[in-house]
Amino acid sequence: TMAHSKALLVLENFIGGKFVPCSSYIDSYNPSTGDVYCRVPDSGKEEVEAAVKAAKDAFPIWSSKSPLERSQILNKLADLIEHDLEAFAQAESKDQGKTITFARTVDIPRAVHNFRFFASSILHHVTECTEMPAMGCVHYTSRAPVGVAGLISPWNLPLYLLTWKIAPAIACGNTVVAKPSEMTSVTAWMMCKLMEKAGVPPGVVNVVFGTGAKAGEALVCHPDVPLISFTGSTLTAQRITEKSAPHCKRLSLELGGKNPAIIFDDADLSQCIPTTVRSSFANQGEICLCTSRIFVQRGIYSEFLKRFVAEAKKWKTGNPSDPTIDVGALISKEHLEKVRSYVKKAQAEGARVLCGEGVDPLALPPGNQKGYFMLPTVIAEVKDESCCMQEEIFGPVTCVVAFDTEEEVIKRANGVKYGLAATVWSGNVGRVHRVAHKLQSGLVWTNCWLVRDLNLPFGGMKASGIGREGAKDSYEFFTEVKTITIKH
Ligand code: NAD
Repeated sequence: TMAHSKALLVLENFIGGKFVPCSSYIDSYNPSTGDVYCRVPDSGKEEVEAAVKAAKDAFPIWSSKSPLERSQILNKLADLIEHDLEAFAQAESKDQGKTITFARTVDIPRAVHNFRFFASSILHHVTECTEMPAMGCVHYTSRAPVGVAGLISPWNLPLYLLTWKIAPAIACGNTVVAKPSEMTSVTAWMMCKLMEKAGVPPGVVNVVFGTGAKAGEALVCHPDVPLISFTGSTLTAQRITEKSAPHCKRLSLELGGKNPAIIFDDADLSQCIPTTVRSSFANQGEICLCTSRIFVQRGIYSEFLKRFVAEAKKWKTGNPSDPTIDVGALISKEHLEKVRSYVKKAQAEGARVLCGEGVDPLALPPGNQKGYFMLPTVIAEVKDESCCMQEEIFGPVTCVVAFDTEEEVIKRANGVKYGLAATVWSGNVGRVHRVAHKLQSGLVWTNCWLVRDLNLPFGGMKASGIGREGAKDSYEFFTEVKTITIKH
């Protein structure tokens, strides 16, 4: 039939400014239908070698351009992506399973903004200078791009997170070899098509598609790639750390989270409840910053639970291309099964599932019956030591538990291996400050969630990562500093 013979989308690597076919390919699925719709190059050592060579060759010219010249090119690229925003959003939604609304309002606008932001911030850095009059000396620092940067990104916010690395890397004058997730490669490939028009010289941005084990590791192990910026799971980060150790590479690692929300009895629940539902279920809960442990002070616990569950039930799950839908499909069948297994484990431990998985019916349109869908799920009466309260689930599942005192909740919130993001809800300014200072978390939002100023550091503590990203932090990561002393 026509439907079956519909041609698959076939991606190609982007190396030295040219699209290059690969000898083997991986199937990529549309998560909302369960169909294979795209073939992604299964690159390995050979392709990575070619990409690194192209990036090395492009480095001398690119790194010697002025920040202003590079800034203008980044701005042009931002304009071109913005011009095609709707096509990018459609592609991201189809490839990842996220709702078209989320792709339109978050993913693609942020990818555009990443380029504009670093196009601007690169013009405003100043270096340090000190004087030693008694020695007749002045010291100053100078910063230079490092070389070929290896960039590895995950599947949850595909273009958003990839451009958050490409933009600062090339703004600083490095050239890059990027490897997006094999599950979400389409928008990176679409962006490659805009490079020439934007004026990005061949070899400055190279994209090699493929799996982590093959393409990713070849990049991590390549001797001519002195820095690796990685966003993904803690397990993969450990592997990357090991593999890169013989080369003493500079690493930036943005990893998983098990983010708490702490809700005191003086919180404004009319703000807190919709925001906490959003922080739990936005992008199907597939955001490293999503809330998955909600600590509610005893006095408001039952009221909170009732209102929270009612609000969660308003979130509609279904075809991601329908703009009225709030929850799309999870990334893969395997991931859906993994997320569901946590709900089963919680039930087996005696926790109560208040809504969602296994409790409420999930009605899907005919075309989406084989998609990887799951309802927003709220679990109560979970023990702190349960795997649901300790491990990153990375799906639309959130746990709600009660607490009594400030001291107690800080200890419990910190009682996991992760330390990425936390939210605190209270009308008491003193308390908000005290708690924020004591939380082991790279980001603390109080009375809000996901409000970001890209100027300031982003990243996690403990098993949530090493290093920070942001205007100054990314600049420092993607440049090498030198201290120069002049004696007069
Ligand atoms: P993942 O670690 O499985 O994969 C991330 C990337 O690494 C992919 O491109 C993958 O192909 C590659 N990779 C896998 N094995 C590799 C290896 N041995 N060598 C080199 N590269 C390898 O993570 P994922 O499942 O794609 O993404 C979800 C995870 O990412 C979650 O843990 C989430 O919390 C985390 N995340 C963190 C942030 C943050 O900023 N802290 C943001 C988004 C997602």
